Amino acid sequence: LISVQNVQKSYGAFRVLHNVSLSVARGEKIVVLGPSGSGKSTLIRCFNRIEPHDAGTIVIDGATIDAAIELTRLRCMVGLVFQNYNLFPHLTVLENCTLSPRVVKKLGRAEAEALAMNFLHKVNIADQAGKYPIQLSGGQQQRAAIARALCMQPSVMLFDEPTAALDPEAVSGIVDIIDSLAADGITTIAVTHDMGFARRIADRILFMDQGRVLEDAPPEAFFTTPQTERARAFLSQML
Ligand code: ATP
Ligand code: MG
Repeated sequence: LISVQNVQKSYGAFRVLHNVSLSVARGEKIVVLGPSGSGKSTLIRCFNRIEPHDAGTIVIDGATIDAAIELTRLRCMVGLVFQNYNLFPHLTVLENCTLSPRVVKKLGRAEAEALAMNFLHKVNIADQAGKYPIQLSGGQQQRAAIARALCMQPSVMLFDEPTAALDPEAVSGIVDIIDSLAADGITTIAVTHDMGFARRIADRILFMDQGRVLEDAPPEAFFTTPQTERARAFLSQML
């Protein structure tokens, strides 16, 4: 579903991504681990072109992600949920969820609201639909942001530190959501520093350091027998 070959990206003279290559199958749950500054967020942002890459190719669901791609189409296909939820503060949860389907997909109000309520039920906050983001807890805002992304019916969902600042029960809620997305054939790529969360959701772990993917392995193998010294050192800090 996703094929990344030799992707490079620099900010000025600073090379953030060095020849990153990877491939992801439909419905897979990938977790990206690595030290702060290793390029994890930058990599997933290249997937929906919030950050353009400089060289190499990214193909998602047959579409080449380059300067020619229509961004609205790409952002329908690839949803991104940030750590800080980025809901529109002046809109209710329901309005946050219906805005893009109405504007981009040209759905009517009733249709967009039915779609949104379906996903708000799915993430278990249908009862909060009429509230404004500031009236919700962090975990509820996180789930609202996920529902909003799902309303575009993406085939890939990107999560950047989805569990930061969530309590253990809310983390379990996110695990359940990601599992149900996979059951629906939606591919998940999540960046996290939460090793417990990583173990619970990952089909595969990518370990990054200094803009390179150093390991690409199932979680059991990665956590028990990492192949690189760098990953061993990283894991030893965590335990
Ligand atoms: P963290 O775990 O702390 O979130 P990360 O692995 O997600 O780290 P990135 O956010 O991808 O790391 O950043 C990789 C490197 O690129 C860092 O050194 C960062 O300072 C640099 N960087 C990120 N965004 C920009 C930017 N807009 N302009 C210049 N440098 C940037
Ligand atoms: Mg980051």
